[in-house]
Amino acid sequence: MAEKRVIVVGAGIGGLSAALTLAARGFDVTVLERAATVGGKMRALPVGEAAIEAGPTVFTMRWVFEELFSQAGASLESEVRLRAASVLARHAWTANERLDLFADIDASAAAIAAFAGPREADGYRRFCARAAEVYRTLEGPFIRSDRPNPVELGKRVGLTGIGDLWRIRPFATLWSALGEYFRDPRLRQLFGRYATYCGASPFAAPATLMLVAHVEQAGVWTLEGGLSRLARAVADLAERRGARIRTGAHVARIVTENGRIAGVQLADGERIAAEAVIAGGDVAALGAGLFGPDAAREGDRVPARERSLSAVTFCLNARARGFTLAHHSVFFSADYRAEFDAILRGRRLPPDPTIYVCAQDRDDAGAGPDGPERLLVLVNAPADGERRFTPQEIAACETSWTKRLAACGLTLEPVSPAAVTTPEDFGALFPGTGGALYGRASHGWTATFKRPGARTKVPGLYLAGGSVHPGPGVPMAAQSGRLAAAALIADLASTPTWRGAAMSGGTSMR
Ligand SMILES: Cc1cc2nc3c(=O)[nH]c(=O)nc-3n(C[C@H](O)[C@H](O)[C@H](O)COP(=O)(O)OP(=O)(O)OC[C@H]3O[C@@H](n4cnc5c(N)ncnc54)[C@H](O)[C@@H]3O)c2cc1C
Repeated sequence: MAEKRVIVVGAGIGGLSAALTLAARGFDVTVLERAATVGGKMRALPVGEAAIEAGPTVFTMRWVFEELFSQAGASLESEVRLRAASVLARHAWTANERLDLFADIDASAAAIAAFAGPREADGYRRFCARAAEVYRTLEGPFIRSDRPNPVELGKRVGLTGIGDLWRIRPFATLWSALGEYFRDPRLRQLFGRYATYCGASPFAAPATLMLVAHVEQAGVWTLEGGLSRLARAVADLAERRGARIRTGAHVARIVTENGRIAGVQLADGERIAAEAVIAGGDVAALGAGLFGPDAAREGDRVPARERSLSAVTFCLNARARGFTLAHHSVFFSADYRAEFDAILRGRRLPPDPTIYVCAQDRDDAGAGPDGPERLLVLVNAPADGERRFTPQEIAACETSWTKRLAACGLTLEPVSPAAVTTPEDFGALFPGTGGALYGRASHGWTATFKRPGARTKVPGLYLAGGSVHPGPGVPMAAQSGRLAAAALIADLASTPTWRGAAMSGGTSMR
């Protein structure tokens, strides 16, 4: 069915979800991925004998994948093995200040009461209710729908929804909104950290991002084999439904003819014809002209200062002593504002960072191996991938996080050298991003509306991925792929000329 040829550029989860959806609907789908493996940011790195997850580790909003798989005639549970976490994460400020959050709100409220007093526990319950309300208001009209502008969003949520949105105080920052629920600065820091799930600072992100807290409260799962396994499962199913996936295929140009999509050209000169292209890399690559002039989009230029956060990650095999790590643990800096000022204003690695540790061999509560274990250590960093952090700066970063972990009672004793990924490395892995991991930063209430939607002005060119509506994170990026596929299918149905105007000729030519 040559008239339904679709090329997906990039096998990140957005591209893969689009590919699976379209392949299951009978489209002729080819995924072109420049890396050697599928998954994009959902990747594992070899460290010694082990493979350590070096990308996302917190799996939420499983309904997105349940729907994705079931619409392709399969089921999530039969493709991957999931375990619900009862401890969402373990948090520490010092050796004596620790707090677990649980999937059960009452258990969390009790833990918060013991940690910071009953008034804070009450604030937590009010916060959860409001975060749930934000999520409920936005799931249908925003997360499940095409990108709206502010007026359309208002129309979609309706009068009651507008009241709900207004109560969220959309123009307030997350940090200031949290002050209405928590007096204890540690709790404000804990819940403010959810902004970083979108690569944003809690001091600049809109209060609506409290919905991330609800998403986590609604369920966190661990996946056997890690999240890279989930990406592989989506790719496998897409192949079983007929998609072709080519790795080591760098798309150098998106080609148009007579103003509409005609195919792509690879870095080695090979041209592949198609009637539609879904660009699944970061839209900043289009803005920077990395796909050639036909697809260059002025609106997608993302100045360095508007990029979301990057990270420095350390994958290591180490013995952990003195602190029982949970599967997800967070160690907070002493001064959150100074940390974000260092990253976003100073454009440097923070001298006192907040650290996320994923102890991949442990269950949610902390049971795990009695010996070296696989760990991912992550600190936030500025997305200035064009400049190289010196080995001294990276060593200083390691010293800072080691000190912060030690202040919380944790010592890590690596048994082999760590695999380190810097903003520069992320920039090289994900072209056009400068190392930004979540697209444009969600700073200010208008930022959400600056993310492009699935459709572009070029007929036949669609966008998917974490830099596109509805936003970053594994489920949201997957959702963007589903939206791109839906837009393409709808356009095909409504435009009879969609097929005829495309590039004539074979499917692949040099
Ligand atoms: C360290 C880290 C931790 C994270 N933690 C979490 C977490 O715990 N939970 C969560 O939900 N999310 C997390 N995220 C975010 C999440 O991983 C991403 O939002 C999501 O995976 C992005 O998917 P994507 O569809 O945008 O594709 P990407 O993963 O960005 O992949 C894009 C793909 O396109 C390919 N590509 C680009 N240009 C070309 C080209 N010219 N030709 C061919 N191929 C090309 C790239 O090689 C890449 O494979 C984390 C991210 C990182 C990096």
